[in-house]
Amino acid sequence: MRQMILVSAAMTALCSCPLQAAELPIFDAHVHYSHDAVAQMPPKEAAAILRKAGLKRALVSSSGDEGTQLLLAEAPEIVLPSLRPYRTRGEIGSWVRDETVVGFLEDRLRRHRYAAIGEFHLFGADVELPVPRRLVALAQQHKLVLHAHSDDEAINRLFAQYPQARILWAHSGFDRPEQIAAMLRKHKNLWCDLAYRSEHGGAGKVPAEWRALFNEFPDRFMVGTDTFTPERWHYIVEHANWSRAWLADLPPALAEAIAWRNANALFAHWKALGSL
Ligand SMILES: [Zn+2]
Repeated sequence: MRQMILVSAAMTALCSCPLQAAELPIFDAHVHYSHDAVAQMPPKEAAAILRKAGLKRALVSSSGDEGTQLLLAEAPEIVLPSLRPYRTRGEIGSWVRDETVVGFLEDRLRRHRYAAIGEFHLFGADVELPVPRRLVALAQQHKLVLHAHSDDEAINRLFAQYPQARILWAHSGFDRPEQIAAMLRKHKNLWCDLAYRSEHGGAGKVPAEWRALFNEFPDRFMVGTDTFTPERWHYIVEHANWSRAWLADLPPALAEAIAWRNANALFAHWKALGSL
C-alpha cells in the first residue's frame, strides 16, 4: 500500500497538466466492494480511499450486495448503489441459468433502493433466457440503469427486449473505437465506461482514433477503475490520477464531461429521488 501511495504521488508530481486538471473531480463508474474486499478492508478504510482519490461519486456494486450497503452508509455523498445478480464470487457464468437469482434480486429490491442493476456478464443469445429476461423486467419496473459487461449482440438484444433501456456498457465492450462508434450511432441510450482499459490514454496522451470517438460522442463516456479483486482497491487513487493525466490532453469541457458530468447526467434520476 505504501508503495502504491509513493507511485501515485510520483505520478501526480510528474503530471505537467494545469492545476485545474489535477483537481478534476472524478465519477468512478465501475467499483465493486464484494464480500472478500469487505473482509480485507473495513468500510471506513474503503470510504477513505474514495475520498483520497477525489471521487465526486462512485457507482458501486458487490457480489452479495452487503458491501454496497455498508459503503453507502459510510459515504452516502459518494456512493450510488448498483445491484449485482451475484451472491458470491464465481457466479459470473452460472447466473443466467440459476433461477434462485431472481428471488435474490427481488428480495434486495424490496429492502433497498438502487441507481442501477449490474454489473452483470451477459453474452449473445443468453439475453433471451428466462433469468436475464426477469432481470431486465426488474430494471424496467424499478427504472434502473443496466450496467452490462456484454458483447455487441447482447447489447442489441437488450435494446430489442427493452427499447427504453438506459445501458452503461462496461469496458465499452472491449471493442475497438470504430466498433464502439457504430454501436453508439445505433443506440442513443447507450453509455460507455472505460474501465480496465488503458489504450485511450497511455502516457497522458489520447490517440487520434479515441479523440475522434470522444469528439463524436462527448456525452457518452465515463471512467471507471473496476475493483474486481480486493487488491485493486489500492489502485483507485492511482487510477483517478492517471485519468486526470490523459483527460488533460482533451479540451477542458470534454475532459470534465468524461471525468464526471456524463455519469452525473446518466444518474440524475438518483439525485432527483433525493438520495444524494
Ligand atoms: Zn466489473
